[in-house]
Amino acid sequence: MRLIVLDRDGVINEDSDAFIKSPEQWVPVPGSLEAIARLNRAGWTVAVATNQSGIARGYYDHATLSAMHQKLQGLLRPLGGRVDWISTSPYLDHHNSPARKPGAGMLRAIAARYGCELTGVPFVGDTWGDVQAAQAVGMQPILVRSGKGERTLASHAEDIAALNVPVHDNLATVAEALCP
Ligand SMILES: [Mg+2]
Repeated sequence: MRLIVLDRDGVINEDSDAFIKSPEQWVPVPGSLEAIARLNRAGWTVAVATNQSGIARGYYDHATLSAMHQKLQGLLRPLGGRVDWISTSPYLDHHNSPARKPGAGMLRAIAARYGCELTGVPFVGDTWGDVQAAQAVGMQPILVRSGKGERTLASHAEDIAALNVPVHDNLATVAEALCP
């Protein structure tokens, strides 16, 4: 089984500093849904690990989050794609939860769900916290420029170069690289 894990906001859908609070505000990054379908066709199982502190902040509830993910799956269906598993973390930093990235709790939960090792499994994200979470469990971090990616590149240029983190424009070019 070939597993790939994706961050959600800024990778699959457009991010906002004001949070994505409703299915209406949940808008795919151009090409991301086709990229997921392409990965699926090439035999990749796609899982998502997403911080959703908007729940702890009271911006939206679990039902609304679930509706966003139903929108995602509904848009993927006609493309022949699907996200197989979504792990969400509703916590804030001060909760000190290992399930909040840069903690790797969600990634460990995904490994437990599939009974697989995480070593070398690609994790695609747009923030430094995503890179740190991947590093913590031996995954292969991949940074995209979409979402907060450009900001991350600017703020952590040296770290990203030192770790040799592959950088892609967006999920579409990640899929292109993984599905020759
Ligand atoms: Mg993100």
